[in-house]
Formats: sequence, C-alpha cells, structure tokens
Amino acid sequence: MLSKRVQQLTPSTTLAITAKAKELRASGQDIIGLGAGEPDFNTPEFIIQAAFAAAEAGDTKYTPSGGTVALKDAIIEKTRRDLWVSYDRSEVMVASGAKHALSTLFQAILDPEDEVIVPAPYWVSYPEQIKLSDGVPVVLETTEASRFKVTRELLEQHITPKTKAIVLNSPSNPTGMVYTKEELEMVAEMAIQHDILVISDEIYEKLLYNGVTHLSISTLPGMRERTIIINGVSKSHAMTGWRIGYAIGPKAIIGAMTNLASHSTSNPTSIAQAASVAAYEEGDAPVEAMRVVFEERLEQIYERLIQIPGLTCLKPEGAFYLFPHALEAAKMCGYANVDDWCTAVLSEAKVALIPGSGFGAPEYVRLSYATDPKRVLEALDRIEGFIAART
Ligand code: PLP
Repeated sequence: MLSKRVQQLTPSTTLAITAKAKELRASGQDIIGLGAGEPDFNTPEFIIQAAFAAAEAGDTKYTPSGGTVALKDAIIEKTRRDLWVSYDRSEVMVASGAKHALSTLFQAILDPEDEVIVPAPYWVSYPEQIKLSDGVPVVLETTEASRFKVTRELLEQHITPKTKAIVLNSPSNPTGMVYTKEELEMVAEMAIQHDILVISDEIYEKLLYNGVTHLSISTLPGMRERTIIINGVSKSHAMTGWRIGYAIGPKAIIGAMTNLASHSTSNPTSIAQAASVAAYEEGDAPVEAMRVVFEERLEQIYERLIQIPGLTCLKPEGAFYLFPHALEAAKMCGYANVDDWCTAVLSEAKVALIPGSGFGAPEYVRLSYATDPKRVLEALDRIEGFIAART
C-alpha cells in the first residue's frame, strides 16, 4: 500500500526514545527528559496579545501563499538590521515553520539524483527531506578536530558534478558549533568555484554564548545569489508551536517555492503571521532575555558534564544542546554502542538522552538544556551514578 518514497524514510530515534520516556512516565516513573528541541520559556506575552488582536480584527482569512506583506516587510527589516542587506518582497517566502521552508526548498531545487552535501552531525530532517525530494543526501562526516565543521579537504572529497547544494547549520543542532568568518569564506570560495547553492539554516542565530558572533554566509562577496537563508521565530522567540519560518534567497527559487506552497499549505496561519510581525518589530530585547538564561545554564551544566568519567565534550558556542562523546562511557558500562547505553540509561537511571545515531554521529549523545537546570543537574548526577555502579 505504501509508496517507495515513504518506505525509504528512516524512523526517528528521537521519537523512539521520547515515546519510551512517555510510556515510563505514564507508569509513574520519575523520568528526566533531556531531549527537548524547543525553548522551555513561554512565548512572550506581547506576542500572544498581538495574536489575540489579529484574531479580533479579522485576520482569519487566507493570506498570500508566501506570507503577508506585513510579515515579509518585518522580516526584510529584521534582515536589514541584522545583516545590513536589503531584500525585496519577491526574495522572501514565509512558511509553516523553518522545517517547511526547507522541505519546500528541496522540492524546488532538486531533480532525481541531484546531490546535497549534508555535514554530519546533522539535524535529523535534512537527509530525509532531501530523499523525499528525490535527491541524494551526501553525508560528509566532520570530526571534533575541526570542531564538527567542514574543511576544504572534506569538501573537495565530496563535491561531484552532481552536487547541487550544501547545507550549513550555524549555530548547529546538535553540536552547538558556530562557523567563523574564515571558515565561511572557505565554504563560499568552494561554492562559487563549483557553482553550488548554499542552504544556510540560521534558526539558532540569536542563541550565541561567550561573545561569539553570527555571520551569514549570504553576506560574503558573490554569495547572495547562491545562498538561501532559512530562519524563523521558533527558537528565537519560543514560538515552536506557532509554525512560522521563512526562506530568503534568489527570486526564481523563492517564486518556485511560493508556487509549490500554494498547492500544499496555501499559506501559514494568518494569526501566527500577525504575531510574528509583532515579534520582529519589537527588536531583540525579549530574545536577549532568554539568551542570557541559556548562557547561565550552559556554564553550569557544561562544567558538571565534563566531570563525568567517560564523557568528553566540546564547549558549545550556540543553540541549547550539549553533544558529548559517550562511547567510552557506554563501554565502561559494558555496552558495545551508545544506542544500547541510552536505552539502559533511560530504563535504569531514568534519564532520556537522544542517541547521536539519529544525527549521523553514533558515538555521541545529545542533551538539551532547554529545561529546568536543576533537573538537568540531577540527570547528570544520575548518569554519573549509573556509570559508577557499573565500573
Ligand atoms: N533547523 C534546525 C537546525 C532545527 O533544529 C529545527 C528545529 O528543531 C528546525 C530547522 C525547524 O524549525 P521549525 O520549528 O521552525 O520548523
């Protein structure tokens, strides 16, 4: 009954662990979940009020497929503020979340057998979305030595005449690493030399720590015409459930994406679009308030994590995840791989971690600190106790 398309999808390990954690919690067990991919803050009140006002004012009808003029203009203004670059409305498409912007983009640019370079560790949906668009995800494995970032050598090994695009995600989910200007210049040089597009997923752009700054590769010479920026309000404004994201890029690509969306979603929710206008017009103060809290948590939690025998971790520079190497810890506990260790940690230590296998890095685990830091610290105590009891 099922299409080949859906049969080739990889089941999500994240969902499997989350479902098991839910089941254990329902049976009365005190499970600490460190799998969250969303801020634990509520959406700022002024944004919620803007949504109410929009609904009352009759913003309850279809909108243009690629987003309202008001939201496009707010995104253009935000981009001008942040990147010092002006875009036209025809270069912006509002989607039902950044995930939807990405899936529409892959559909708009990929023909069968077109290759897209996906550096691992990667956000779980990139390879699956590329496959769903009949493209071929070419996974490029980065290492801790390059702080999980692509190098010139690795790119040279993976670029072929079929390479259509490369996905960059800085700050990264799951590693928290941020590309420097020099690193982006290298990627830009390669993209121009080989005539490939860069998909720059900047959804964590505002969540940066220890003075690290974000640079969009789109702003480098020769890159505007070959970069598609993906962004949205989900992570910056604690608005994951509102489903508003966007793409900015060359007019032809944005036009094709808008056309595609007009036949699938019609438009992102009108009320959520109005709320997002309020979010962007307010500037960065509410975002900064959340960022400061994340940074305090990172300091506290990172210091504790690296004391645990068997876990080593690069210090993240952005997003809200830690991505420690856990194979040693797994072996110390008598497990051959990190997936099995995560299953044991869940059933015995009652802590839900996301195994790195889903991110293309099976020796690692992802922990989110977008949750009460006291609970995260308690979870780390439990993990340490679990390891100690087995060594
Ligand atoms: N890109 C990355 C790297 C993400 O981590 C996520 C969400 O987890 C998304 C895109 C999707 O964001 P949205 O909720 O706006 O669809």
